[in-house]
Amino acid sequence: MSKQKISELLIGTNNIGKLREIKSLLPKNIKIYSTNTFNLKSPIENGKTFKENSLIKSKYFSKKTGFVCLADDSGLEIDFLNKSPGIYSARWGGRYGDFSKAIRKVYRELNRKDKNWKNKKIRARFVCALSISYLNKKIACLEGKVEGYISDKPKGKNGFGYDPIFIPLKKRKTFGEMKPSQKYKMDHRYQAFKKIRKFL
Ligand code: IMP
Repeated sequence: MSKQKISELLIGTNNIGKLREIKSLLPKNIKIYSTNTFNLKSPIENGKTFKENSLIKSKYFSKKTGFVCLADDSGLEIDFLNKSPGIYSARWGGRYGDFSKAIRKVYRELNRKDKNWKNKKIRARFVCALSISYLNKKIACLEGKVEGYISDKPKGKNGFGYDPIFIPLKKRKTFGEMKPSQKYKMDHRYQAFKKIRKFL
């Protein structure tokens, strides 16, 4: 399977922001299907790491459809919060995936830990695990990261999730203030894609 070139691929995500970005990174000759087309719900992500959760998703969606599936699991690690929200990044948005709720929780947790946190550099990184599976078989599984820090207030309306509070190293703007094309060239999914390209 891994030696063969893939001509059709199912993207295992119901998140439109991620789907858009993943599509823009894939070779144009691959026919893309999304889990929305099949009306598939996501499986329970009960892994302990980003990699484990991405494999749970790629295997589950592949078995449900018979397609080779590429899935990701990603999130934000904040060092000052012992790497939270980490694999719980989506869950901090509550049942309805409310990203402003997740951002408020980040600031609440930072304030709880240290009222003076705004005078510190709060190191953080986005992590993306990508995996490709065919039925129950893993074809590839790897990780990409982008390092940065937390902005003292949300800025910008672009992107999704924690984009308005994340400033990549050596930049002044948050991901939420950047054009999507600028963010896509440096973020965690792009770093992971560079590594997974040889499997496609
Ligand atoms: P997943 O769907 O379980 O991988 O959840 C990932 C969660 O991490 C998303 O719902 C977002 O809250 C957050 N996240 C992942 N990638 C990004 C990104 O590129 N920008 C902002 N937030 C992200």
